[in-house]
Amino acid sequence: MTQSPAREPGYFLDHLRTVDPEVHAALAGELVRQQDGIELIASENLVSRASLEALGSVIVNKTVEGRPGARYYGGAEFADRIEALAIERAKQLFGCAFANVQPHSGSQANQAVFLALLQPGDTVLSMALDAGGHLSHGAAVNLTGKWFDPVRYRTDASGFIDMSEVERLAHEHRPKLIICGGSAYPRAIDFAGFRAIADSVGAILLADMAHFAGLVAGGAHPSPVSHAHVTTATTYKNLRGARGGIILTDDSALARKLDSAVFPGVQGSVILNAVAAKAVCLGEALKPEFKTYAAQVLANARCLAATLMERDIAIVAGGTDTPLLVADLRPFGLTGAAASDSLEAAGLTCNKNAVPGDTQPPRVTSGLRFGSAAGTTRGFGEAEFRRIGGWIADVLHAMAAQGARDEAVEQTIRAEVQALCRAFPIYPGLDARTPEGQ
Ligand SMILES: *Cc1c(COP(=O)(O)O)cnc(C)c1O
Repeated sequence: MTQSPAREPGYFLDHLRTVDPEVHAALAGELVRQQDGIELIASENLVSRASLEALGSVIVNKTVEGRPGARYYGGAEFADRIEALAIERAKQLFGCAFANVQPHSGSQANQAVFLALLQPGDTVLSMALDAGGHLSHGAAVNLTGKWFDPVRYRTDASGFIDMSEVERLAHEHRPKLIICGGSAYPRAIDFAGFRAIADSVGAILLADMAHFAGLVAGGAHPSPVSHAHVTTATTYKNLRGARGGIILTDDSALARKLDSAVFPGVQGSVILNAVAAKAVCLGEALKPEFKTYAAQVLANARCLAATLMERDIAIVAGGTDTPLLVADLRPFGLTGAAASDSLEAAGLTCNKNAVPGDTQPPRVTSGLRFGSAAGTTRGFGEAEFRRIGGWIADVLHAMAAQGARDEAVEQTIRAEVQALCRAFPIYPGLDARTPEGQ
């Protein structure tokens, strides 16, 4: 091989563990953390080994801008093939005419929708953050809240969207865009009802299905796609793929606007290794096995909600139609922050979450959000989710009784969690010595 001083001998050969022991050690620690703990954060999942390979592939080197077949750089043959596969699969999976698979994230997918359809200062009607909405739907701290004029709907006292309030606000404020879908709203949304309200005021309806896209794909939840003018989703939650966003529509004029809002509107070149991994996950979601997974995600979320309610833990909206559920800790006098720390010490990761009418600040909150997707991917069924619910209840009851974390309970449960995890191993063969496990 020709040698030149600029060509470092190990550059194309050496593994991360020798090149960068510090990053390697942190990544190896993360693999063990995922293997030995139960992941209940609703926005997390475990991608397939195939997705990991796509993410770590050399397509990461390729720069393209524009759409397949209409690029600004050459050498795009395989990039085009990959992105076209992802687009075709997204269209087939969700039954729509147009898909853009380039958004780097769900937030950027939503930003592109705002850019495509609105002018700064336009009114947007969306769900308030503390009722379960998402930052990118007009929160004051987000670009969508700073540059647009958000009006927020909330949930009623039992935790359900009050469609008559949505209708009243729509007629009062005449928004240009109405958004349904949230990050902590557990119940099925009346998409047809939202569309009727949008039509009655001449608004565009955006459905953000980030937290139930996998169930829609697997036939375990109604689809918003035919009701909304535009649908956005993340690919990494219950859809079980790599991190990223997608935008779907049936309207060709809207599709053109959305495409140019993504590029050159809010993004530059395509993250092609992420698009390759999206193609892989969409291909996986088209297989019959995915229906079984989706049905089990829902069954497990409902089982967890029922188990917690049996142990006197209040569940917002009394249950769930999605992979997520929210526990209201106010009757226990506990905060979400303290409870999630104790659960994490017990090997159960979840996140603190505001509950409807919460008076605690966002870093504290009075609730916990749980999701069933990652556990289901791992192979947990309802028997395992009943045990998980029992552990969560044990931690919360011990804390409430003592007014402080109970370390003995945390340690006992930690050992049981670890034993359950070892019975359902993830990424066998992947460890600190393999390329993706590095
Ligand atoms: C998770 C989520 C997003 C976007 O998430 P990113 O982290 O930006 O990919 C957007 N909308 C909703 C409703 C979400 O739950």
